[in-house]
This record gives sequence, structure tokens and C-alpha cells, in this order.
Amino acid sequence: MTKIGFIGLGIMGGPMAANLVKAGFDVTGYNRSSVKIARLVEAGGRGADSVADAVRDADVVVTMLPDSPDVEAVVLGEDGVLAHAKPGTLLIDCSTIRPDVSRQIASRARAVDAPVSGGEQGAIEGSLSIMVGGAAEDFAAARPVLEAVGSTVVHVGAAGAGQTVKAANQLIVAGTIELVAESLVFLEAHDVDTGAAIEVLSGGLAGNRILDRKAAAMVRREFTPGFRVELHHKDLGIVQAAAREAGVVLPLGAVVAQLMASLKAQGHGGLDHGALLKLVDQLSGRE
Ligand code: NAD
Repeated sequence: MTKIGFIGLGIMGGPMAANLVKAGFDVTGYNRSSVKIARLVEAGGRGADSVADAVRDADVVVTMLPDSPDVEAVVLGEDGVLAHAKPGTLLIDCSTIRPDVSRQIASRARAVDAPVSGGEQGAIEGSLSIMVGGAAEDFAAARPVLEAVGSTVVHVGAAGAGQTVKAANQLIVAGTIELVAESLVFLEAHDVDTGAAIEVLSGGLAGNRILDRKAAAMVRREFTPGFRVELHHKDLGIVQAAAREAGVVLPLGAVVAQLMASLKAQGHGGLDHGALLKLVDQLSGRE
């Protein structure tokens, strides 16, 4: 039985680790706050007291942490994964981080970057879309693990390429949420039944997953995360830096990055990114 050490049991990592248990892997999880470890144990996994404890016997280590500095500390740090895992252990980093950090890790270990899309619901259902960067043989080894948590698993290139594709994903998602938010406020201002509008819009060329999965909660002004504004702000920073590095210009991306920054600056970093609607309400004087 493949032994997996899983670090970062948050909104995404918790259900992903539970799905690995369901698929028959022997999963040992570690998280900074221990409530989340208890949840994995309830789901049939094992709990660890430290990163070292989680990875010592692992064949595969999966990380699902918030940001680049977290992954650097947990993987490369003094008491981190590389210091305690067996040589040759495969690292699968599912966090969304800077492509250069993924490349740095891959230069020091057998590792793939495998950021995911599909949100909390996709993590619970095991239907995530996973974009993988790394060597072909490491992708092949990671595949059975990733197929237990995702339904679309694609090798997109060398180390770091998964993160570049994820950056494009975050650009599309943020832009789409903003357009859906603007449409909803526009429809409400015209006293149109938003439920009926969402139904018909979903069937046409404007149909998209944000309409299907998020618009109803946005209409109710319900912004429990889901995906937090502060994480999407982080991701749009990655997009902007990577665009600059490649010498390409992303005008709509720049606007939506500023809007996301404004939400965070107003103290809404902990809300779901659907809260972009709050800004449209504010800008339209409709709060
Ligand atoms: P989260 O904050 O819910 O989970 C992160 C977990 O890591 C937390 O439980 C935290 O306690 C733990 N953690 C942080 N530092 C740690 C450390 N040093 N040691 C041990 N545990 C530590 O975040 P999330 O929403 O699950 O997102 C995780 C990653 O996945 C992020 O990079 C995010 O951008 C990405 N992502 C999130 C979603 C989503 O919808 N939430 C979707 C796709 C990708």
C-alpha cells in the first residue's frame, strides 16, 4: 500500500486527504491547527505531530499550503520535508505558488507541481482539474495519487509549468467572477428576476461554472469561503509578475487585480472571492 504524508489539511487539503484514504492509500496527515488532523483521523487516516512525523515513512508527500513562503518553509526548511523524507520520495505540491519556487524545489528533489482547480466542491467530490509540471516519469508516478482527487489530470510541461497554467486559470476565474458580479447588479437594478436570468444565461454562450456554482450565493450576498479573497489576491500577483516576465500585457487582468486588492484593503480578505460583487454594489451606490 502506498504511504502518503499529507501536509496542509485546510479547505482543500482536508477533503483531498479524505479522498486518498477512500481510494485505499495509507495517509498520515499534519496541519498547523490540530482540529483538522482530528478530522482526517475520523475519515480513516492517521494523524502526525510534525512534518517530520508525517513524511518519515512516506513513499509520496503531498503538500496543500497557502502560499510560496509556506511551501518553502515546509519543504526546504530546517525541520522540513527534505530533511526528514526518505531519499527518492516523490513530492507532489498541490498548492498554488510562484512557478520559480516550484522550479527551485524540483532542482533539489524528485517533485512535481500539481496545482488544482475546482474549488472546495471539486475537492470534496474528487473532481478537481489538475495541471502538472515536472519530468514525465515523475508525472507517471504521481498520476494514481492525483487521479484519486481529480477527474482531469494533465501533464502540461516541465517543472513550474503547472503553476503557469494555474495562473492563467486564476486570471480567467477572477475576470469571470467580476463580469458575473457586474451582470447581477445590472439585472437587479432593472428589477429582473435574477434566478430566471441565471437559468437562461447558463444555457447560452454566456454559460460558465461561476454562473452555475457561485451566482446564487452572490445574489444572496453570502460570501463564506470557498476561496478566500486574500488567496486570489496572491494569485493575481503571481499572474502580474509572470506576465511582466514574459513581456505580455493583460489589461483586464490588471483591473481585476486592483479590484481584488481593494477588497482585501477594505478588510474583506477572509471572504469568498464572489465578494467582488460587494465592490460593484459599492461603486454603483447600491449597498
Ligand atoms: P487553507 O488556508 O484552508 O488551508 C491551508 C492549510 O495549511 C491550513 O489548514 C493551515 O493551517 C495549514 N498550514 C499553513 N502553514 C502550515 C505549516 N507551516 N505547517 C502545517 N500546516 C500549515 O487554504 P486552501 O483554501 O485549502 O488553499 C490551499 C492552496 O490551494 C492555496 O495555495 C490556494 O491558493 C489553493 N487553492 C484553493 C482553492 C479553494 O477553492 N480554496 C482552489 C484551488 C486552489
